[in-house]
Amino acid sequence: MASKKKSYIQSTVGLTCPRCREGALFEDKGLFSFKYRMHKHCHHCGVDFEPEPGFYYGAMFVSYIGSGFFLMICALLAVFVLKLSLPVTLITLFVFILLVHAYLFKVSRSIWIHWFVKYDPQVPSIKP
Ligand SMILES: [Zn+2]
Repeated sequence: MASKKKSYIQSTVGLTCPRCREGALFEDKGLFSFKYRMHKHCHHCGVDFEPEPGFYYGAMFVSYIGSGFFLMICALLAVFVLKLSLPVTLITLFVFILLVHAYLFKVSRSIWIHWFVKYDPQVPSIKP
């Protein structure tokens, strides 16, 4: 049974391998779990998930910039559209970021590796 290949966006937000879009990037598949261990390589195609030491330092900037803009937009909407007070807005955003920070960490790493590892729809599976 042939499975439908994921798009670039589906693979990035779904935390799967950028080359084959099948194997999981993280050992724990829960999107919001607080277990951050990544696989060393893809269990489907064998691509190395850490091509060099310190590869994911750049993902910190993706996380910082992405979450900063996202929270700024949420804060502006809450204050100017929903007319919430500033303390209520800040507390709400603080609780929200506590709930989603595990996913933001993971998706930042996923975005980073998807920028550097190209998709190959013909990649053979290493599974026996
Ligand atoms: Zn793969």
